[in-house]
Amino acid sequence: MDLGVLEKATRFPFNLHIEPTALCAVLEERLRQEPLAQIERYSSLAGLAQDQFGVTLSLSSADGPRQIRAAWVVGADGATSAVRRALGVGLPGFTWDERSVTALIDADLDRIGYTSFMFQVDDQYGAVLQKVGPRRWIHVHPEPLAVTHEDIGRRLPDIIGRAVKDAPIRVLDWRSERMHQRSADRYRIGRVLLEGEAAHVANRMIGHSPITSFFDAYRLSEALAAVVSVDADDNVLDAYAADRRRVFLDHASPISSSRKLLVGRFGDQQRLDTELDQYRRAAADPHYLREMLLFNNELAGESPVAIAARRQR
Ligand SMILES: Cc1cc2nc3c(=O)[nH]c(=O)nc-3n(C[C@H](O)[C@H](O)[C@H](O)COP(=O)(O)OP(=O)(O)OC[C@H]3O[C@@H](n4cnc5c(N)ncnc54)[C@H](O)[C@@H]3O)c2cc1C
Repeated sequence: MDLGVLEKATRFPFNLHIEPTALCAVLEERLRQEPLAQIERYSSLAGLAQDQFGVTLSLSSADGPRQIRAAWVVGADGATSAVRRALGVGLPGFTWDERSVTALIDADLDRIGYTSFMFQVDDQYGAVLQKVGPRRWIHVHPEPLAVTHEDIGRRLPDIIGRAVKDAPIRVLDWRSERMHQRSADRYRIGRVLLEGEAAHVANRMIGHSPITSFFDAYRLSEALAAVVSVDADDNVLDAYAADRRRVFLDHASPISSSRKLLVGRFGDQQRLDTELDQYRRAAADPHYLREMLLFNNELAGESPVAIAARRQR
């Protein structure tokens, strides 16, 4: 897909792929420039309690347990969120009968003409390949839950070999994880907000989970800034919570499910053809491609400040 068709719609008509560790280093450097931000390592949240004025966080660290008090808390602590559990908020949805296997590989795939983001559509060897640096690629594929860890490791070079046309590769690291499509019942519980995978989890093959999480953070910082700095009514936070849950359930989750099915084990040939037709059409028609790519804008949702203002009118 030629992302150049987005030139008039955005200043950034390209995808940026980056490994999590490299992304964390960028974010940390930026946070260190903020005089009010403090990064605390090796502390973990053990529990929390809230009243109408604030939240008390119980932390465990090498120096022993301690408590801190905060006016607002954002639970951005991932799929197994301790914040969400402490609040007793459920995460209904379903778990796929396959796990995702993510491998970091060293290979020169530019030489065989691979672009930075590739889907291998294949009933047996479906995979997603993303370039994350010079000679660094991430290969993600699904494996049935019943396949053991040892078997996945044994099969990995062969499976990756098929996706890269037997170009020489070195597997540097790999992990496997169960895959879910699940959302918390609520993203705001009093003075605590949930975002990212603490709020919702989608299958990890296609990238909708982190993209949606980025937009959560963007929308939540707007809403919290309005409440903390401009003294806006806290219904801005309810607008954040409702709109981000809507975006996940109506857009991120169904799109990520259908793309996961496209990549591997679609099963039904007719559905596969219908799905592929839109990509064939996009390849032939730049206007259609532009509309298709702009559809991802739905993941941005709406400004919570604008939603709250509209409701007040
Ligand atoms: C093995 C693996 C492979 C993946 N592969 C892909 C992929 O190929 N493509 C893709 O699109 N997505 C992939 N993902 C998903 C992607 O990494 C997530 O969507 C993204 O990281 C979610 O961001 P987050 O900030 O919500 O949570 P996370 O990145 O999980 O961050 C949560 C943070 O909270 C901290 N934390 C957790 N519990 C506590 C506690 N009790 N106290 C204090 N801190 C705590 C953790 O240390 C962590 O720093 C993968 C994830 C995993 C685990």
